[in-house]
Amino acid sequence: MAKRQLTPEQRERKRATAHARYLRVAEKERAAARAWNAANKERRRQWREQNREKVRSYFRKWAAGNPEHQRERDRKRRAENPAKRKAELAKWKAANAEECRVHVRNRNARLRDAPGAHTATDIERLLVLQEGKCAACAVPLIRSGKGRFHVDHIVPLKPRKGNPQGTNDPSNLQLLCPPCNISKHNSDPREWKQRLASH
Ligand SMILES: [Zn+2]
Repeated sequence: MAKRQLTPEQRERKRATAHARYLRVAEKERAAARAWNAANKERRRQWREQNREKVRSYFRKWAAGNPEHQRERDRKRRAENPAKRKAELAKWKAANAEECRVHVRNRNARLRDAPGAHTATDIERLLVLQEGKCAACAVPLIRSGKGRFHVDHIVPLKPRKGNPQGTNDPSNLQLLCPPCNISKHNSDPREWKQRLASH
C-alpha cells in the first residue's frame, strides 16, 4: 500500500497527538514512581544509608551540572545562619590577610585611576628584598597584628596638588614601619626624604 501523503495540517495534528500521548505516559510513569517511593520510604532510606558514597557521588555529579542550584543553596545557607557566615568570613580573612590587603590596595588604585597592580607574592618579595626592615628607618618590620608594616606607594597614588601620580606596580612599592608611613602620608618621596634628613 502506497504511503498516503499528509497535508502539513494533518502532519502537525499527528505530531501533537503523539506528543500528548508521550506526555500522558510520562506522567503515568512519574506517578507510579512517586507512589512506589511513598510506599517504600523505609526501604529507600536503608538503601541510601548502605550506599552513601553512591548517593554522594551522584549528587556531586548532578550539582556540577547545576551550578545555579549550588549558588542558590549556598546563598540560602548563609541567609539562614548569618552568625556562622560571619565567623566563616572572618576565618577566611585571617587565613588570607595579605590577599585581602592586596585586593583593597588594587581596588583603591583602580578607583584613583592609577595604573598597575601587584600580588601578595610581590609583598613577600619586598619583605625579603628589604631584609624585613623599614625602607626608611631600618627598624625591623612587624609582620602581623597591631603595628604591622605598611605598604607604601613611593610616588603616592593620591599626590598633593601639582605632584605626579604613582602607579600601583611593585616597582612603586616599599614597606615602611607605621610611624614612617604616617609621617610620609602623601608627600612626594624626594620632599619626604629631605624632611627626614633635616630632623
Ligand atoms: Zn620606619
